[in-house]
Amino acid sequence: MMLNFTVGPVMSSEEVRAVGGEQVPYFRTPEFSEVMFENERLIKKFANATERDKVVFITGSGTASMEAAVINCFTERDKLLIVNGGSFGQRFVDICQVYGMRCEEIKLPFGKALKEEDLLPFENRGFTGFLVNLHETSTGVLYDLPMLGRFCKRNGMFFVVDAISSFLADPIDFKANGVDVLLTGSQKALACAPGVSVLVLSENAVRKIHAVNAKCYYLNLTSALKDMERGQTPFTPAVGILNQLHARLRKIEADGGSGAEIERVANLANDFRAKIKDLPFEIVSESPSNAATPLHPLNVSAYQIFTALKDEYEIWVCPNGGELKDSVFRVGHMGALKVEDNDLLIAALNDLKRRGLL
Ligand SMILES: *Cc1c(COP(=O)(O)O)cnc(C)c1O
Repeated sequence: MMLNFTVGPVMSSEEVRAVGGEQVPYFRTPEFSEVMFENERLIKKFANATERDKVVFITGSGTASMEAAVINCFTERDKLLIVNGGSFGQRFVDICQVYGMRCEEIKLPFGKALKEEDLLPFENRGFTGFLVNLHETSTGVLYDLPMLGRFCKRNGMFFVVDAISSFLADPIDFKANGVDVLLTGSQKALACAPGVSVLVLSENAVRKIHAVNAKCYYLNLTSALKDMERGQTPFTPAVGILNQLHARLRKIEADGGSGAEIERVANLANDFRAKIKDLPFEIVSESPSNAATPLHPLNVSAYQIFTALKDEYEIWVCPNGGELKDSVFRVGHMGALKVEDNDLLIAALNDLKRRGLL
């Protein structure tokens, strides 16, 4: 079996994989509604959302929820500000442009954190919405959620946080930071199969969704919210993956909750970063998320390392695309990984070094 250090899909526990092997049940039943209600309750608990906030489950990868958030929460009358620090920030820009939304970007150089002074030029400029990928997974940069929450609050901006790769990897407080929409997906730290994404919605967001009343059908959140009142979805959801999520969320709860899970991921990240000190790599993010370590190899092509680990050691790391293909690869720390797995990866990297390939 391949050892998977990518940023998604990541390795699932044996338990989650067993659920994936089960016969998929019929879902218009009180039993499946109970599964959905418990999924909602645990997602809210782990995001530090309140009783009154809502959750909807979308069948589609994370990008479906990014698109759903944009089209259900905003109109052409809004003026949006988007943090664009890499390919996921660019994705929000592209979605907004498809729908003719007015938006401006805060462009960040590769690997750079977002600082208070980067926000200064955008204060009191009449922006009505702010969109950010809390962990810009393409570069491994984690932004400062409390700082962004304060910025949105004092500027009266509707706050959309794509936490697809940071939910359960980095601490997130939905309520304390005034988040209106929080997104996550099944194949990142939730460590299930891809195919389901999740939106956590504040009371303010629910009001906005009803007011906007988006002209779309499959990704319409008004109808999704209505059906979720009875633990259902408007269309056939990815029932098998929602059952996997149920098993996974309950296991996290039994093992101590989101705090314990985040600590487990953080420990894996710190262990890996300590063990590569003597290898010819540079960590290229100013403020790395616990979810992944972005590395620049000093001597050889990043893509060659990805290929060699895949073909000769049965280990996947995560290649970067585009112009970063040869200069950066990422090592993920999400999913069913252990310290001993880090040791296997370090041993493979040391072997590449011994062979003159690193
Ligand atoms: C993975 C990810 C997404 C969603 O990508 P999909 O391929 O559509 O699941 C969105 N935003 C971030 C920050 C991600 O890491």
